[in-house]
Amino acid sequence: MFVVFLGAPGSGKGTQATSLAEKYGLVHVATGDLLRDAVRLGTELGAKARGYMERGELVPDDLVVAMVMDRLSQPDAARGVVMDGFPRNLDQARALDRALRERGLAVDLVIYLRVPDAVLVSRLAGRWECPSCRTPYHEVSSPPRVAGKCDRCGQPLVQRPDDRPDTVRRRLQVYLEQTAPLLEYYREQGVLVEVDGDQPIPEVSRQIVAAVEALKRGGPRG
Ligand code: AMP
Repeated sequence: MFVVFLGAPGSGKGTQATSLAEKYGLVHVATGDLLRDAVRLGTELGAKARGYMERGELVPDDLVVAMVMDRLSQPDAARGVVMDGFPRNLDQARALDRALRERGLAVDLVIYLRVPDAVLVSRLAGRWECPSCRTPYHEVSSPPRVAGKCDRCGQPLVQRPDDRPDTVRRRLQVYLEQTAPLLEYYREQGVLVEVDGDQPIPEVSRQIVAAVEALKRGGPRG
């Protein structure tokens, strides 16, 4: 099973992709996390990607596509994949389709998390995460049990540098210009399922699982 999450920054892709991957034993591939790891480790990729990420721009396709292909060629990816943050433009979507076709696979399901802009902005502004296990938190809607500490591993929580208001505005603009056209691309392929992402997390999860179950039954997809 190959599932792609689409949605603006702050739409809940990371949260939902993590729990979906856990539930079905799939591999969660989050390009933002892979790139942040590369920056933290000071790799060549990290050095090239850093400036784009800080400005809220997309990292060039050749770098991101190579990184994703490398990840997909690792043995665990054969279990099935939940992609989060990729593809982010049409060229990336076509590169993914080509790579999957070569392996006799295809994107089976695209979950689009629809969330109003005003909600996205407030979510991103209050967002914190654990730098170690990546558990996401929000000051208001899902605070940690102990202020500033991860519930799972006790690490001090951090805010992403690209969650600053000016960068958030740019990321939303980039999403609208470059990523939103993918909705039409996947709708035409008949694999797009739209989910209202402005609901409590368990309800969003329930609807996503329902879409996966419908896919497994071979029923209608959208
Ligand atoms: P995310 O964690 O998915 O919001 O990604 C954080 C940042 O990483 C983005 O603002 C981009 O700079 C970069 N990034 C993540 N995924 C991609 C991608 N598929 N293509 C280009 N840049 C990406």
